[in-house]
Amino acid sequence: MTSPLLEVRDLRVEFDTAAGPARAVDGVSFAIAAGETVALVGESGCGKSVTAAALLGLVDPPGTVRAGRITFEGRDCTTLDERAWTPIRGRRIGLVFQEPSSALTPVRSVGAHLVEAVRAHERVSVAEAERRALDALAMMGIDEPAMRLRQYPHELSGGLRQRVLLAMALLPGPALLVADEPTTALDVTVQADVLDRLREAQAGRGMALLLITHDLGVVATIARRVLVMYAGQLVEAAPVERLFAEPAHPYTAGLLAARPSAAPAGERLAAIPGTVPPATAWPTGCRFAARCPLAWERCRQEAPALLEVAPGHAARCHLVSEPARRGGGPA
Ligand code: SF4
Repeated sequence: MTSPLLEVRDLRVEFDTAAGPARAVDGVSFAIAAGETVALVGESGCGKSVTAAALLGLVDPPGTVRAGRITFEGRDCTTLDERAWTPIRGRRIGLVFQEPSSALTPVRSVGAHLVEAVRAHERVSVAEAERRALDALAMMGIDEPAMRLRQYPHELSGGLRQRVLLAMALLPGPALLVADEPTTALDVTVQADVLDRLREAQAGRGMALLLITHDLGVVATIARRVLVMYAGQLVEAAPVERLFAEPAHPYTAGLLAARPSAAPAGERLAAIPGTVPPATAWPTGCRFAARCPLAWERCRQEAPALLEVAPGHAARCHLVSEPARRGGGPA
């Protein structure tokens, strides 16, 4: 078996808070192969974005990567200093965040941003960098790319700014793109076009994609494998079709039932009751027990392990070892 492009083992990230250490990411392990698209899903506050920040060496104080190992292209990146990150972050691992306004400097033109994205990593002329920038804008579906190069961020719509950011992230030819809610702020038709273009760009380059989202509609469109996070832990991992057809964790089943497309016409959307517990006080047993319709005594006392449900499918739930309970109600 070839080594994965990215391997994360037992990652633990903590934040020092007035209420004590908050373990935002607690023992997360996964791998991504070259060219693969993996979605990391879950509600706000479940640890998705902190996991992404750790992959890029971007956990800032008061946060610390307390334990674990991150290996990218065969290199241990867990303890790299800022200098060692330079040839990796932005070049080999691209990143795009949800809020395009804060990622673009208002006083610099689109062209200046894109030319720098090329020249920061490669010795090429400004003319060559501009040529590549035009190609990248066209690839992301931006009309009149030459005119856009001269514009400033405030002259673009939110959708165009997000396309510019994606073009910028793709320009250095990363082996992995980490995209944190890249289409959340966009309306549905723009979102579909941006996802299509991202998929095309990815296929043409053999680039892997780690897509962080709370939107299962986006996941179904683009991902091959899904990782579900809850309260700092991975609670389910499965190929996308299997996760949608046979979710093994009640939290995943709740997320699927809460999709707008899952509600019959005219009926209210289902919602998972309650909220994620605070990271300073994870419960002793299953972290989802207070919200789980299938919880019983064992769940409140004993933390479940991540167990294999089927090849390539694992879930952190006592129902994996006690499937007969699945038909039962609350205890
Ligand atoms: Fe629900 Fe128990 Fe499974 Fe946790 S372990 S998700 S409480 S059934």
